[in-house]
Amino acid sequence: VKVVSVSAIPLEAPQPAPSYWGALTWGGPPGEVGRAYPVAVRRRYTYSEKISTVLVRIDTDDGVTGWGEAKAPVAPAVVAGIVDRLLAPIAIGTRLDEIAVTWERMYAAMRVRGHDSGFWLEALSGMDIALWDAWARLLGQPVWALLGGRFREAVPVYASGIPATGAGGLGEVRRQTEDLLARGYRAIKVAIGVDPQADIPSVAAVRETCGDACQILADAAGSYDFRQALSVGRRLQELDVAFFEMPIPPEHIDGYARLAAALDIPLALDSVATRYRALEFLRKDAVHVMQPDVCRAGGITETLRIASLADAFGAQATPHVSIGSAVHFAASLQVAAALPNLSVLEHWVGGNPLGSALAPDLDEPINGARQPPAAPGLGITVDEKAVERLRLEGWTRSAK
Ligand SMILES: [Mg+2]
Repeated sequence: VKVVSVSAIPLEAPQPAPSYWGALTWGGPPGEVGRAYPVAVRRRYTYSEKISTVLVRIDTDDGVTGWGEAKAPVAPAVVAGIVDRLLAPIAIGTRLDEIAVTWERMYAAMRVRGHDSGFWLEALSGMDIALWDAWARLLGQPVWALLGGRFREAVPVYASGIPATGAGGLGEVRRQTEDLLARGYRAIKVAIGVDPQADIPSVAAVRETCGDACQILADAAGSYDFRQALSVGRRLQELDVAFFEMPIPPEHIDGYARLAAALDIPLALDSVATRYRALEFLRKDAVHVMQPDVCRAGGITETLRIASLADAFGAQATPHVSIGSAVHFAASLQVAAALPNLSVLEHWVGGNPLGSALAPDLDEPINGARQPPAAPGLGITVDEKAVERLRLEGWTRSAK
């Protein structure tokens, strides 16, 4: 069975409010080069005012269709263009039973031209997921079965998340924590990294509200410098936080190694893409929970390799999810079910206009866990009318 056509479909929907990232990062003012250290403009990544992503659809000569997703939080037309102009011509004509071979063909195509991260690897990730979905559908099996089977029938998830507000907004932090507990979540991530002094009271408020039985995670999005991360990490340790995600910028691998040696709290990293980059951190015992994103790190194929490599170093892994469409959520669940060294899976708890609106049969967590579906492929049915409705305005395919 061969691939006969590939389409990239950029999607866009209004951003659900309130935003987990806070107002500053979402198309807000550029920020000033002020007295703050570290300088905010060096650390804050750009987000769009909309929720956006790119779906990849692969059709085969057997009539089977597969859906994938390439993460594209900004400029989804760029990712879609890469799929159309670069990846589709490579994948068309390849055999569906040779996903790893096709993966290497695609990966090699842009060697020495930024082949191992960013827009390119996100586009490749979408292709890989669509290939897995089509292959599994052809065989009538869920993807998790082709990955070696489930290690668990219910995948524990953490609620992502609650933004730290500083001492002024602790009532709101408590209210959001109570709401998540009422919805059955027993693991909650707090978005810190705003201010090293003000972040801790927010985490402490979550701990006070949910008690000892609750698992708390903290994500600093690479906003601290080393000494701030060390000091915050010590406080998080006292609050029994289960992992400290991206404490410092991911370029500072030695900084991660020094933090790991100085702290007892496990360090996590969501920006890791490809097994080669993961290896650099693992060799230095610098990250304890690898968080490859299936729609960013190289698809299902590469996420499994990164997780397996982490396992060889005694580290855990879990798919990074943040927000994305139903395809992203479904693919992450398939992988999480099949990881022997899974930590706990991320689950977006805000409104998601690209979730069940796109695939009505997308599962919802029950008592803080998701059930990997037994249906073939990714286990969801993409509503093509919804895809058309959410398609980026003005986008037309540039190549066949
Ligand atoms: Mg993160």
